Amino acid sequence: MSNIYQEIQKRILVLDGAMGTMLQRYNFSEEDYRGQRFKDFPYPLKGNNDLLSLTQPEAIAEVHRKYFEAGADIVETNTFSGTTIGMADYHMEDLVYELNFQSAKIAKQVAEEFTKANPDKPRFVAGSIGPTNRTASLSPDVNRPEFRAVTFNELHVAYKQQVEALIDGGVDVLLVETIFDTLNAKACLFAIEEVKDERQIDIPIMVSGTITDASGRTLSGQTVEAFLISISHIPLLSVGFNCALGADQLQPYLKRLSHDTEFFTSAHPNAGLPNAFGEYDQTAKQMQQLIESYLKDGLVNIIGGCCGTTPEHIKAIAEVAAKYKPRVIPAQAGIS
Ligand SMILES: [Zn+2]
Repeated sequence: MSNIYQEIQKRILVLDGAMGTMLQRYNFSEEDYRGQRFKDFPYPLKGNNDLLSLTQPEAIAEVHRKYFEAGADIVETNTFSGTTIGMADYHMEDLVYELNFQSAKIAKQVAEEFTKANPDKPRFVAGSIGPTNRTASLSPDVNRPEFRAVTFNELHVAYKQQVEALIDGGVDVLLVETIFDTLNAKACLFAIEEVKDERQIDIPIMVSGTITDASGRTLSGQTVEAFLISISHIPLLSVGFNCALGADQLQPYLKRLSHDTEFFTSAHPNAGLPNAFGEYDQTAKQMQQLIESYLKDGLVNIIGGCCGTTPEHIKAIAEVAAKYKPRVIPAQAGIS
């Protein structure tokens, strides 16, 4: 059986694009979000995209299918907000296990269809684990700098539940992404290690941080190098960056990361920076050109897209990625 460690040596692997951007196209109403099962739920549910895995599973499968058709090797489960912390906004904490389990099953089923049709290009599912909407190392209240809206232990418990459900649902990889606060990510990595220990299993882990602005730091203030040191104690499949920036703004940070790490690297940038309406205008062609510059420099092993990217973007990225060799891990890597 071929696995992702074998495939990643052979070629640059392509990750999918945004789920949210695709779901916007369906224009689902409050009623659609609810489906039959939640029609009497006492709170509004529109906007709870993770819930669509239960109420509109065909749409979720269709988005995965479109990304695989575009050339993606890996698709992400529809579980970005799938913790009790994220689901608290919708009073749906009790659904967390089921949401993650079903999302993983939907993605895995589509992946297996594609692998079966073309065994030379096995497809993988990454369990998407978002940062939650709370930060463990920063206060949301400027007048109470010591206050925390969430603790490390609370995050650990919440992430563990999500990780267990994703693994039970059959994901091939866990993707801890959009990390703006490294302490949140460490709670998640701790949970993953615990599950691996308890179950005596191994599962590849991808870690992807977010550089929030031109300061070149994460929201919790870390530079590329500090971020890397903070998470490199755990054996990872890959480390990389996603979201907040477009491919061009991300390049200098990716360069530093690629130079310093002995893990494989990943990037899934946004389709440029948002316009005044919060929309992304960068075309597939434009993004392809910017990504080609990563490939010429040999910076990445896994490449995909975040906010604003669509199957058109992923198709263009997959086409150019096929022309280049994957990044070679530098012999001197490892800054610690
Ligand atoms: Zn994004």
